[in-house]
Amino acid sequence: MPLVSMRQLLDEAAKGGYGVGAFNVNNMEQIQAIMEAARETQSPVIVQASRGARSYSQDRFLYHLMLAASELYPELPTVLHLDHGNSAATCKSAIELGFTSVMIDGSLLEDGKTPSSFEYNLKVTREVVEMAHARGVTVEGEIGVLGGIEDGHGAGGDALAHLTDPDQAVEFVEKTGVDALAIAIGTSHGAYKFSRKPTGETLKMDRLIEIHKRLPKTHLVMHGSSSVPKELQDIINQYGGKLKPTWGVPVEEIQLGIRNGVRKINVDTDNRLAITGAIRKVFAESPEKFDPRDYLKPAREAMKRVVAERMQQFGQAGHAGTYTPVSLEEMARRYAQA
Ligand SMILES: [Zn+2]
Repeated sequence: MPLVSMRQLLDEAAKGGYGVGAFNVNNMEQIQAIMEAARETQSPVIVQASRGARSYSQDRFLYHLMLAASELYPELPTVLHLDHGNSAATCKSAIELGFTSVMIDGSLLEDGKTPSSFEYNLKVTREVVEMAHARGVTVEGEIGVLGGIEDGHGAGGDALAHLTDPDQAVEFVEKTGVDALAIAIGTSHGAYKFSRKPTGETLKMDRLIEIHKRLPKTHLVMHGSSSVPKELQDIINQYGGKLKPTWGVPVEEIQLGIRNGVRKINVDTDNRLAITGAIRKVFAESPEKFDPRDYLKPAREAMKRVVAERMQQFGQAGHAGTYTPVSLEEMARRYAQA
């Protein structure tokens, strides 16, 4: 099965009332971990790569690994999504490479750091939607600015400084025609999201619910939504790591989001923690070992367990075979008619 459109995956998720995890990758083991978790749980798949991942993998390694994934797991509808495209040119190069979905993050200027104006965001997002939809490729936009920095991307500020304004969200969706919308409700990128368990003060779920009421047909996206489980932090620290205490987004809050229009949930940190903990454990317990497979296999297995757990929690498990993917050409025709 060729890589498929994210729009279709999210439309199906909306019909079925579930969410789909979007997991970041940089290398073969991470892709394998996701695909194995998806096969085990019979889940549709969103694999996403940031600009940092594209440069790490020289783009073409990443693309060919994803082709291998679609050959080896033909029963799973699989999307290759660009995470946080910083400009129309970045999105264009991703589409030309074979990505079936792109995010244009016009909430920041092209430097990926400076919060932009609403007008700038509208203009750059509209430009990407026109280019992408002509080829059947899905577009995710962002309105409001998330906290934190990851892979060099992010304003780095307070997560509550630029929450998504519901009126602006409505105008943004109408004027740009995006398929999915990332909103800022108090989450941050990276491991250090909250210094205590988040409450209604820190995570603005009421804001999310209001946006969903105003935009019931728009697929909402939660970024920075790793749960940062204490067990994974503990493994790292038990074997010589030095993580400071931190809290992520509780799974129950994500599930509340899913009941209120969230269809895509971005998870990266949890997988990073799982991989690092597994490698540290091998290094600490078996310092005589030096074959990379001796630690990469447990690392891959640890990530697979986290991904499979999230696929169950988000509700996507069991939905891989419930629909027939349509081609990007067919998606392009549908966009042209709309
Ligand atoms: Zn993000």
